Amino acid sequence: MDERYNPFTGRPITPGYDEPASRAVALGLEPPRFCEHCGRRMVVQVNPDGWSAKCSRHGISDSTAAEAR
Ligand SMILES: [Zn+2]
Repeated sequence: MDERYNPFTGRPITPGYDEPASRAVALGLEPPRFCEHCGRRMVVQVNPDGWSAKCSRHGISDSTAAEAR
């Protein structure tokens, strides 16, 4: 199945239940720490323009992609 994980806690997402997010997360200021596809801990780099996070299996996501949502 297409299981998803909370990128900030690494826990599997339960359909119909939104895990409470901190204010920094809600504002998009906090980089994700875990891959939403597999729940692995990602390597996160923060820079003046935003952040990038790399999953060893799923590659890099960055704040540019997050802002496009
Ligand atoms: Zn992944």
